[in-house]
Amino acid sequence: MTRDPQAIWFADVAARLGFADAAAFAQAFELKPYRLTQIYRAANKELVESVEAVTTLPKELRATLAERGLAFTAVEPVVLQRSRDGKTTKGLFRLHDGNEVEAVLMEHKGERTTVCISSQAGCAFACAFCSTGQAGFTRNLTSVEIFSQARFFARDLHARGKRITNVVFMGMGEPFHNYDAVMGAVALLNDPHGLGLGHRHITISTVGLVDKIDRFAEEGLQVNLAISLHAPSDAVRNTIMPVNRKFSTDELMAACERYVAKTNRKVFFEYVMLEGVNDTEACAHDLADLMRGKLYHVNLIPYNTTPDGAFAGTADDRIWAFAAILDRAGVPTTVRHNMGRDISAACGQLRSETQPKAHAR
Ligand code: SAH
Repeated sequence: MTRDPQAIWFADVAARLGFADAAAFAQAFELKPYRLTQIYRAANKELVESVEAVTTLPKELRATLAERGLAFTAVEPVVLQRSRDGKTTKGLFRLHDGNEVEAVLMEHKGERTTVCISSQAGCAFACAFCSTGQAGFTRNLTSVEIFSQARFFARDLHARGKRITNVVFMGMGEPFHNYDAVMGAVALLNDPHGLGLGHRHITISTVGLVDKIDRFAEEGLQVNLAISLHAPSDAVRNTIMPVNRKFSTDELMAACERYVAKTNRKVFFEYVMLEGVNDTEACAHDLADLMRGKLYHVNLIPYNTTPDGAFAGTADDRIWAFAAILDRAGVPTTVRHNMGRDISAACGQLRSETQPKAHAR
């Protein structure tokens, strides 16, 4: 599969317009290569709204392409919610077939802005505490559907003189279960003729697919890897993450060691704090044992309660006590700052409010 961003983008555009491939699309409108480059740059670097507004193209061509339905985005916002403090914007986006996914913009203090994007409609991994996981899997997103979520917020920020500084694959879905499309989206995000986001500013979060972690290590990319660990042992991890029955905690940790040996890059571990499940002192010590002396970083995540109410989040003071145990063991640890709790911040929550039976499709 190609990793050329412009080729990926036009293949998707062509498919959405009903052409067999990008070449057939270009031929139908007699588009020379330089015309394609003009369109691509206007759409993804200048972040122009639509083809009608691409002033470098002849008027007639603009009209023809617009009439034929050429669109610069593969996702349409259906709901946008801004948190009361204005720092978090959550969007629900509709795909051409009616499926819906979520993406979130977080504007931190200073210049830093992070966009969290979805890689699949639904998710096949059924983590017990995750509302997307509970709704089941619908389909993979294309590279352009994934990228279009970031492009939407890039345009929003652009209008306010700001830009995206970070992208995280922490929305709906399992990025490594849609590996090629996610790598294509990374190429689009990174393209200097498009958004131009540095690889170091992109993070892929995985449930822990060992074979894909090995594959990712071979890519030679500076993209960050985050692992949703959430438990320090099979005994606990099996109860909340079904994937652990396929790839055990030991196998997962061994893959992380191979990744560091191969890339010399730090691995980030996410650990969502669930009351009475994975937040005991014993868990903290076991986790410290897994992490100690490695190129690892732990991010403790306060739980966003989901509508089914099956899990409760650990109280803040106990999260800090858990963090202190890791800290004393010399493990670099942070507690994730919570944003947008007043706007259904939990993954999959916004969709579950508008599309309750997505999984039944
Ligand atoms: N499938 C990938 C990425 C999607 S979820 C993965 O598992 O990493 C991104 C992160 O949010 C994961 O660590 C996930 O476990 C966590 N998460 C899911 N539901 C949550 C909730 N209700 N509150 C806090 N974190 C949650």
